[in-house]
Amino acid sequence: MIETDILIIGAGPTGLFTVFEAGLLKLKCHLIDALPQPGGQCSELYPKKPIYDIPGFPEVLAGDLVDNLMEQIKPFQPGFTLGERAEDIDKLEDGTFIVTTNKGTKHHANAVAIAGGLGSFEPRKPQIVGIENYEDRGVAYMIKDPEAYRDKKVVIAGGGDSALDWSIFLANVAQEVTLVHRREEFRGALDSVEKVQELVTQNKINLITPAEVTDVKGTDKVESVTITIHDEAKRFQEIECDAFVPLFGLSPKLGPIANWGLEIEKNAIKVDNTLDYQTNIPGIYAIGDVNTYPGKLKLILCGFHEATLMCQSVYQRMNPNKKYVLKYTTVGGIDGFDGSRK
Ligand code: FAD
Repeated sequence: MIETDILIIGAGPTGLFTVFEAGLLKLKCHLIDALPQPGGQCSELYPKKPIYDIPGFPEVLAGDLVDNLMEQIKPFQPGFTLGERAEDIDKLEDGTFIVTTNKGTKHHANAVAIAGGLGSFEPRKPQIVGIENYEDRGVAYMIKDPEAYRDKKVVIAGGGDSALDWSIFLANVAQEVTLVHRREEFRGALDSVEKVQELVTQNKINLITPAEVTDVKGTDKVESVTITIHDEAKRFQEIECDAFVPLFGLSPKLGPIANWGLEIEKNAIKVDNTLDYQTNIPGIYAIGDVNTYPGKLKLILCGFHEATLMCQSVYQRMNPNKKYVLKYTTVGGIDGFDGSRK
């Protein structure tokens, strides 16, 4: 049995930063993640993509952010159960919890922080007959390493942030980037839309709208795609390419956590955002992308904030008679943390 103060389910950016905030309060953490490595979406979906909205970092690659978080929490020596999915939870009479993974590993904790992000996620796939035959042969639903597209001809489909950001990034890596979207308007950030339009005028992105990729062709791998243009004439255009990357987002599935008796709304766990991000079960918190409350934003910095307030609540739960006085990390004297990286 693994013993800890806070058991964190999910080692994404939110779960990792929780270890730091808990560590300042001398609370010990252990993390479980179904993936074999920490970092959540940042490591699994977009390690080489730059992030621009982490305070204090004008630009940081998602993978580097994870490395930095791992470095930041090192002094607090968190435990990890990786490659295992949290499956069952039992609340004991004393208010503590036992969480068991799909491989039978048991964890005993005073509080449980669910930082499960999107849960186990599946990419939304386009309705193209036979597309599965080209998966990993030029068709990919997420970009893990942009270098794989160096000097290649790439067709990206989609109208959200991922499609826009990757088109911008690959414009300087790939030989040719074609962005196909079924509407004239994009859903992504205005700044990214403007950047794409700038690159279109520089002939670095070939933009085709309103249109859809309706067929993929090739012998052993992708060699071309057919694009149906949604104008009055319903024209077709054949584009030669090495890769087709439909970026239509992820369809989130909460997985086993959905059966834990928690209040769920639209695939997310409802929490009390007026206080401490606790769920309807006292002692179980939900932070980061996995939770929902009025005005919720699925951003890394929001997860960091939620983790910080949650740790204060766990401290009060475990030390009901102690008054916690906030100290800054820049001021010496915080027990267990002298700022040095050992
Ligand atoms: P996640 O990163 O999703 O991590 C959750 C972890 O929990 C996963 O590793 C998962 O395996 C694990 N897990 C789930 N269920 C279980 C279980 N039952 N047992 C064990 N493990 C489990 N945000 C920004 O702020 N700025 C950006 O520029 C930005 N760009 C993005 C670009 C893309 C392409 C994508 C997809 C997202 C982007 N985001 C961005 C969103 C950001 O990545 C998320 O807000 C962030 O990852 C949420 O962190 P998290 O720790 O809450 O969850």
